[in-house]
Amino acid sequence: MNPSATRQFRTGLAALAVAWAGLALALSLSGQLFDPPALHLPLRTSVLAGRVNVYRPNQVAAEAGAARGDRLVAVDGVPALRWLRERGLQGLQQGVSNRYRLEKPDGRVLDLELQPEPTPTLPTLATPLYVAQLAVGLAYLVIGIAVWRLRPARADSFALLLFCATMGAQLFLSVESYRAWLGPERLLVNLPFLGATIFHLFTIHPFEPGWAVRHRRVRMLPYAAAGALALLVPAHRALGLSLELVSRVAFFYSVGLGLLSFGILALERHRHRDAEKTARADVVFIGASVSFVPVIALLLFQALTRFAFPTELALLWFVLFPVAMAYGIVRRQLFDIRLVARSSVAYGAATLFITGLFALLIVFADAAVARFRVNAQSPWFQIVFLFFAILAFNPLRVWLQGFVDRVFDRDRLAYRQAVREISEAMVSMLSIREIVNRILTALTDTMGVERAMVLLLDERDATLRPEAWRGAWDPEAIALDLPSDHPVARRLWLRREELWRSEFDDEPDSELRETCREIFDRLEVELIVPILFGVDVLGLIAVGRKLAGERLGADDRQLLRTLANQSAIAIENAKAFDEIAQLNETLEARVEERTRELRDTQHQLIHSERIKSLGQLVAGIAHELNNPIGFVHANLKLLDEYVPRLLELQARGEDTTRAQQAIDKLLTRSREGTERVKKIVEDLRVFSRADRSELAEADLNQEIDRTLALMEPRLRNDVRVRRDYATLPQVRCHAGQLNQVFMNLVMNACDAAGRGGEIQVRTRPTAGGVRLEFEDDGPGIPAALRSRIFDPFFTTKPVGQGTGLGLSLSHGIVERHGGRIWAEESAAGGARFVIELPREPPEVEPAVDAAAGG
Ligand code: ADP
Repeated sequence: MNPSATRQFRTGLAALAVAWAGLALALSLSGQLFDPPALHLPLRTSVLAGRVNVYRPNQVAAEAGAARGDRLVAVDGVPALRWLRERGLQGLQQGVSNRYRLEKPDGRVLDLELQPEPTPTLPTLATPLYVAQLAVGLAYLVIGIAVWRLRPARADSFALLLFCATMGAQLFLSVESYRAWLGPERLLVNLPFLGATIFHLFTIHPFEPGWAVRHRRVRMLPYAAAGALALLVPAHRALGLSLELVSRVAFFYSVGLGLLSFGILALERHRHRDAEKTARADVVFIGASVSFVPVIALLLFQALTRFAFPTELALLWFVLFPVAMAYGIVRRQLFDIRLVARSSVAYGAATLFITGLFALLIVFADAAVARFRVNAQSPWFQIVFLFFAILAFNPLRVWLQGFVDRVFDRDRLAYRQAVREISEAMVSMLSIREIVNRILTALTDTMGVERAMVLLLDERDATLRPEAWRGAWDPEAIALDLPSDHPVARRLWLRREELWRSEFDDEPDSELRETCREIFDRLEVELIVPILFGVDVLGLIAVGRKLAGERLGADDRQLLRTLANQSAIAIENAKAFDEIAQLNETLEARVEERTRELRDTQHQLIHSERIKSLGQLVAGIAHELNNPIGFVHANLKLLDEYVPRLLELQARGEDTTRAQQAIDKLLTRSREGTERVKKIVEDLRVFSRADRSELAEADLNQEIDRTLALMEPRLRNDVRVRRDYATLPQVRCHAGQLNQVFMNLVMNACDAAGRGGEIQVRTRPTAGGVRLEFEDDGPGIPAALRSRIFDPFFTTKPVGQGTGLGLSLSHGIVERHGGRIWAEESAAGGARFVIELPREPPEVEPAVDAAAGG
């Protein structure tokens, strides 16, 4: 059957069952309310398993010896059941007595001639038994319908509805009726179905045995048999069967099926390991035992003591069973059911035990009174005795209660474990988001609420705002801004405990009541729990209804409080962690700032290094320029003298050859001087263009020469320079920057070689570019220092002379050209600096340090 057909089929059957129960109720009520007959039986009876039992004889009957608990065997010689069915109240006539044969519990037979009773002033409706039956029947019906409405799509709620409707009908119909046609058959038609529905229910909830899954039709069999049995009721006479027999069969059929169903359930319970389902099975067992065991016990008690117990009280117990079933079906989480049920049973048993002891004591006291002839007339004796008895029993009761608590504490362990897990997880969480989400999962998954939200305090504007939520929330709730001085927030702060919406019901100030309720309504929650840390409210937990629709219990509240406390600590931790992280961040920023300052200083130093080398250059250049300009100047002076003399000679017509030669010589030498000046200035320009220079092809031999030329004045006096050049390929480079490198190396070499030393410059082409070597015959670089000489600020020179930046800058420049620079020991034990450069520098343009280093 496809799902929608199944649903239709079930809905149809459910409606039929409810209609049947409704009809039974209507029949029952009409049997009581409408045209009550003028006369009534002198004995009120109820029918159980084909037996007609007296539960209230009228006064005459009682005086004649009839008593509650007697069995009505026959009326006017007709078996009681049949008489009730066939004649009923119509068989009574004013002034005519009937013969009632009663059977006492001890088997004695009593025949009574009794007049019918005039219609009682009180209708039967008001008798406790009838009220109890109606109430219990209605309870069954209501529970069945409610569960069906709450869990419409489920097979077990359908089965429960069928069972409840049948049971309700049974209860409605088993009330004695004034009308003959509403006689006992009604009951017999319904009774077999009761067994079938129990079988149906227990083979679906909570376990569906394998065979029932494989052969779904098996469940139909009891219904079919019940139908056949029901058909026997109208047909029994035609078949020659007594109604009593049919009644017996129907009764035992139902009871038998009921027991079988319990057996099946017990077997499945034994076989299954699924904790959730076995818990549900336990609910069924607990429900059944709480519901039926007392009734059975009462019946047993009645049978054994021949004491007619008020059946109506026993009947009320029956309600507990559908309640338990409904609970098991409807509730999604059976968080603590076993615990609650078992502890209540245990408390009940303990109480019963104490009551029994107490009763025993009183019996004993009574005996004592009789025996010792104490003046029992005086009430004081009893009061004093009771007082001491209660005094003595209280410690026992306390002890028993404690014992029960301890026993059930073991079950709480599981619950506590859940709480502990949450706490442990939270302690290690350092993100508020994570903590909040953990709370929400705990609420929705462990506690089973449909929606939950955590609001946190935004300290900047003292407002509580939703931080995270689970379940369906409408946007209005999510947009909530709750100022921390809102009455709800204030009350939570003052109260330091959870707050229920219902607490505002009694608030006399209507404005306050509405402002507070508005918050709950907007969030659509019943309960708000504060997250407290010290005196502060860090946030709120808003908790929706439980999925099962029930109220939050004591355990839930405990869990909520624990969660709130734990999360408060965790949130504080996370905040502290955040602060440290922030501090760390600023620390980083500060370090960066320092680094920047240092870098600035470094730049300044680099700058001063350049100024230093420039200073050296300038000194050299000044010297260099001084010479040519000096003699150009002197020559010009001479020219100043020679030219007028030449003119004079010419004017006199004398030989001017010598004078001309002298002037020519002067001019040539002057030109040589200005040439040199020009060359020096040109080299200087190349050097000064270093910062801005573009990448360009250069012959590095020429570039080295240029540097050497500029340094010549310094070199000339101190050291000899030997050039060992090979033809080099063109290299794309920033020539100005490389000039700086060469100058650094040559200057270092000069420093190392000292006066009279020698520097060798060697250039060679390589596979990919060029190799340049600057070698000196100085003391060389100790191996231990070789790795450090390229470090910025590393210098072995006296303060004021070395900056320790020359090599580090050179290293940077060479690297940016895609080359390598290193120092090694020369053959003579001096230092040799080797540079290898590719013909093409890598793509990346020298950026930051180019300006500083070039
Ligand atoms: P500075 O010359 O200002 O000290 P450099 O970075 O140019 O800075 O050099 C760093 C150090 O390397 C020098 O102080 C020196 O100890 C060593 N050094 C450099 N070149 C030579 C060389 N040719 N021979 C021996 N030591 C050298």
